[in-house]
Amino acid sequence: MKTLFVITLFIAGMMMSCTTTETKMKTEENPFYKAYGTPFETPDFGKIQNKDYLPAFQEGIKKHELEIESIVNNPNAPDFDNTIVAMDRSGDLLANVSGVFFNMTSANTNEELQGIAKEVSPLLTTHYDNILLNEKLFKRVKTVWDQREQMGLNTEQAMLLEKTYKQFERGGANLPPDKQAQLREINKQLSLLSLQFGDNLLAETNKFKLIIDNPEDLAGLPQFVIDAAAEAAKQDSLDGKWLFTLHAPSRYPFLQFSAKRELREKVLKAYINRGNNNDQYDNKAIASRIASLRVQKAQLLGYSTHADYILEENMAKNPQTVYAFLDKVWSAALPVAKQERADMQALIDAEGGNFKLEAWDWWYYAEKVRKQKYDLDEEALKPYFVLENVQATMFEVATKLFGITFVERNDISRYHPEVHTYEVKDADGSHLGILYMDFFPRASKEGGAWMNNYREQYLVGDSAVRPIIGMVCNFTKPSGNTPSLLTFEEVSTLFHEFGHALHGMLTQCTYRRISGTSVARDFVELPSQIMENWAADPEVMKMYGKHYKTGEQIPQVLIDKIQASKYFNQGFTTVEYMSACYLDMDWHTLKDTVQKEVIAFENASMSKIGLIPEIVVRYRSPYFAHIFAGGYSSGYYSYLWAEVLDADAFQAFKETSLFDPATAKAFRDNILARGGTDDPMKLYVQFRGKEPDVNSMLKRKGLIKE
Ligand SMILES: [Zn+2]
Repeated sequence: MKTLFVITLFIAGMMMSCTTTETKMKTEENPFYKAYGTPFETPDFGKIQNKDYLPAFQEGIKKHELEIESIVNNPNAPDFDNTIVAMDRSGDLLANVSGVFFNMTSANTNEELQGIAKEVSPLLTTHYDNILLNEKLFKRVKTVWDQREQMGLNTEQAMLLEKTYKQFERGGANLPPDKQAQLREINKQLSLLSLQFGDNLLAETNKFKLIIDNPEDLAGLPQFVIDAAAEAAKQDSLDGKWLFTLHAPSRYPFLQFSAKRELREKVLKAYINRGNNNDQYDNKAIASRIASLRVQKAQLLGYSTHADYILEENMAKNPQTVYAFLDKVWSAALPVAKQERADMQALIDAEGGNFKLEAWDWWYYAEKVRKQKYDLDEEALKPYFVLENVQATMFEVATKLFGITFVERNDISRYHPEVHTYEVKDADGSHLGILYMDFFPRASKEGGAWMNNYREQYLVGDSAVRPIIGMVCNFTKPSGNTPSLLTFEEVSTLFHEFGHALHGMLTQCTYRRISGTSVARDFVELPSQIMENWAADPEVMKMYGKHYKTGEQIPQVLIDKIQASKYFNQGFTTVEYMSACYLDMDWHTLKDTVQKEVIAFENASMSKIGLIPEIVVRYRSPYFAHIFAGGYSSGYYSYLWAEVLDADAFQAFKETSLFDPATAKAFRDNILARGGTDDPMKLYVQFRGKEPDVNSMLKRKGLIKE
């Protein structure tokens, strides 16, 4: 899932009648200024032009300001409806144009749109800051909050109130002016330091070049890797040579296949020392300064650590829960990683290697073990995984589970000819939402895969505004007579994003800021990851696995190999990832503001958990961008947490049957329909009858025996 812009608080859809003063529209032609008049009020892509965005943003901000003003100036005493609900209902035009624009800048962009994005981002930041720092508005919100016990709110209303109030409180609205000023100064410094951290890291990553001019140094590399390196060299005016860099598509195959041990060492060492070279790009002082400022900020707001501040909004709630969770998985994963190390050392010894396995050897020998033990050839699988078949099966799975159906609609405007549009209907034929699917790479699209919303779901009185959802991927395009053929990983990706889309489409909530996928970070990947279980199930695999030429079903032997290979290298993968979770938590449970010596701090953190030297923590502090330049501080554990949820949730189907109607209904009613309207653990327990058990995930990874 993708968060496009921080507009979660006052996010708004469209089709809302506006009770405040209508402002004069600059031009009647702008398609954002009135209802589209299209089926289901889907964006009228045929009419929207680049020039429409900026004025629509400006107008949307202006209208939103007026709406907020009218809430603030309401002569009636503040109550839930005239303040909290009114805020939830404000900002239609802005949400509408944002929904379209930020989807376009990811999925179908151009230089003009990128230019507009640069202009718009600061406008939006200022706009939302102005709302959060609006003293009179906060006073009204606080008045309602203080009366919450006496208002007889239902769970959903109580949640909307709490999230609204907390956003102000966590932004410092309750602090006296001098402390607010301090907080603003800290925020400013933090955002500058984060930017610099990211810029330095980019420079460090780009700086390193391994230039090979002797073909002997290409030993072990497959032809596709050599070709890519030759092409990279050419683009760098190094014709006739081969160029390798620290970027993942170059670094990983090199570490995996290069038979030249000293070159692997060179590449890995360059990678793990980024930001740690004591030059102008060094990130050590920045990281420790960020950690220290975060302690200051947390304590200013009344929390003992930054992790406490962040985690109160997550399912885990506090650092103790995260550490206890990590410890449980770590104690299962570390011995498996040590066994993998022993297996690889045995291989080295058997080959007469006469050296001790080091960190730069891991990928290389893991690849040899993979070939030996699992013998799974991706290329042999692809002819069975035709995109159209996988998609049809995916729809069928959703129909079997939830009774929903998908009808292609060619009468709905698309932003690109390759996009397919579906109307999603419930079992009784009623309309649930619109789903765009956009599968192939193009220059105008970002890499990766994601789901996002054009319009949130909510209720206006009794009538429902239903969501508009997009799924965007980057799969191989069909060519000639060959259809789009997927790798198994891509099949999983498709089901994953579809799970997010189901979460977005099956939502039945009242308020838009807590509907659909607007849930805690360590909960949001449950609906997506659980769908990957169906993708990997042999019964489902037989439904979509048909050879594109012969129509022959995928042979059992291939299915068995896929099933077996899921245990491959899981000790390493889990330990490498988890060590970074610990490092993240250690940095953010600091209670004092004294700046730390970064490498010593990191070493102490890693030796405390007993990380083996053959595995380097996935992100060392000077290049841990997730936590020092991105939004994952105290949250890097979330991925694994969600895996516990999805494995345990899928276990409920294993205990009954793959498409068990009662289990599917419970999952839909308690998880998919509920958005962020209740505490996620409560929702989970309502579905499962108990809290999640970590063992299902450990078994699935082969970290404990089935
Ligand atoms: Zn996801």
